[in-house]
Amino acid sequence: MTKPIITIDGPAGSGKSTLCRLLARALGYECLDTGAMYRAMAWHVREQGSDPLPAEALPAMIGQVEIEIQGSGENQRVLVNGRDVSREIRRPEITQLASDLSARAEVRQVLTEQQRRLGTRGGLVAEGRDMGTVVFPQAEIKFYLQADLRVRAARRWRELVQAGHEVILDEVEEDMAHRDRQDSQRALAPLRPAAEAEIIDTSRLTIEAVLARMLDRIRPGKK
Ligand code: C5P
Repeated sequence: MTKPIITIDGPAGSGKSTLCRLLARALGYECLDTGAMYRAMAWHVREQGSDPLPAEALPAMIGQVEIEIQGSGENQRVLVNGRDVSREIRRPEITQLASDLSARAEVRQVLTEQQRRLGTRGGLVAEGRDMGTVVFPQAEIKFYLQADLRVRAARRWRELVQAGHEVILDEVEEDMAHRDRQDSQRALAPLRPAAEAEIIDTSRLTIEAVLARMLDRIRPGKK
């Protein structure tokens, strides 16, 4: 019997990455940050000097890239063709390009296949935008995290500042609102809760409270 797959979807700053890491640790599972895969792809495309996005060149470009994610949370390392790009993929322009690219069928197809391959053995907490709806529709347990835009922007701003990026809160909020719209309105795998997902608003909850609620859903009655 393979171990279960747990999905966490939601907009930027809703707490997915933190909860993915903590949940995986509590259960002895792996955490898969699929946003990092879209970001890595964006970094690769940018590295090839492609701005604006070349419609015809894209398939060949994404076919050659090897994306590897090691560890999670603060210890996460993202490698593109062996080069460590963990820090660079958090830059605002890569963030926006990741969202632009994620609307493209060729990109989604390549990354969806890789993600499913990583999930074949189960024992995985997968976080992103379409984990419960498209990549792992058969997942045993699905969550959807959301929070007020201002709260999410403040969280992301703090993370970026702590990581040494110079950013302005209002700009982070604007970029986030734009990206939310783009991710929710695209035709392919738009951001939305799976029908069976438990929706949790994390605006006024501590991380511990969200984790406890998730664990209670996964293993009811056990503390
Ligand atoms: O989660 P994160 O902010 O790192 O994701 C970056 C971008 O990658 C998102 O704005 C979204 O456009 C895209 N993405 C996606 N599907 C996923 C994960 C991320 O389209 N499963």
